[in-house]
Amino acid sequence: MKVFTNPVGPGALWFDNLVAADGTPVGYDPQARAFVPVPPFCANREIIGCNWIAPEPGAFCRSCAMTALSPKTSIPYAVLNWAKTEAAKRWVIDNLGRWHWFRPEDSGTRPVFNMLAEGPTPVLMGHADGVVTISVAEADPVLSTTRREALQEPYRTMIGHMRHEIAHMLWWRLSLRADFLDAFRSMFGDERADYQAALQRHYGNGPPLDWRQRFLTSYASAHPHEDWAETASHLLHLTDICDSVAAGLGSSELPHPRWDPYAESDAGQLIRVAVSLVMGINHINRSMGLSDVYPFVLSQTAQRKLAFTHDWLRRGAHGR
Ligand SMILES: [Zn+2]
Ligand SMILES: [Zn+2]
Repeated sequence: MKVFTNPVGPGALWFDNLVAADGTPVGYDPQARAFVPVPPFCANREIIGCNWIAPEPGAFCRSCAMTALSPKTSIPYAVLNWAKTEAAKRWVIDNLGRWHWFRPEDSGTRPVFNMLAEGPTPVLMGHADGVVTISVAEADPVLSTTRREALQEPYRTMIGHMRHEIAHMLWWRLSLRADFLDAFRSMFGDERADYQAALQRHYGNGPPLDWRQRFLTSYASAHPHEDWAETASHLLHLTDICDSVAAGLGSSELPHPRWDPYAESDAGQLIRVAVSLVMGINHINRSMGLSDVYPFVLSQTAQRKLAFTHDWLRRGAHGR
């Protein structure tokens, strides 16, 4: 993900920002890929904090317009989880737009999203004929971590689910082309193999012993459809990590490549470099839907205290 220019003042804007640093409301224009200070904003701005602009007052943005079903707001945390889910969706839709998917130049079908909250029974995520079903409960970090541990997965985030399920939809779009299916089958195998039986076999027997040599994840070994979805979502992970590294760390204030932070005598310089780097790394983590590596903001007072401790700690154990 890029880092964006603030249209109303100094400093940068991050993809999810609703306001500039001075509090001025801003919206993201997904067509121009730029922030603008003017409405019309998306009709979902108040309820779920969608920061995209809408084509006309009272309308949904390009991303929210793809949501056919939103969760029952009476279910606890449904709106909060839905907000996080839509944020992950906007991120992935914007990523895919870099390759022209779902933009005006793409004349094909748009995905339709059913965003469902979970009652006592879990919602099965999946894709069928252009319709993507997402469990917004997976945006809850406790539930997501519990399931990640239970299923022994190394990685489970909403942006990961979004990339995986949209990848199934993209397969369906590509399968409408004359030149795709034969090429797909020679790389991934025949997707007409019985899907339900394949999943039962996967959950009953586990992956083949040599899955690491042949698949990105153990789940990818279940069926050619899952192999495609896992592979395509990892391509999206890796591409977005690169984009975020380039955007987030490209402007770092690293004084020179061999700079040693432990040898830096100027606390102000150390803090400036650190802030620019952690903002960049936070940005990279967001490309994977992970928590910020350093989720703090440094006030002037905190910076003075940091400079004080820097001064005293640098005197070292030798009583210099
Ligand atoms: Zn919206
Ligand atoms: Zn899948």
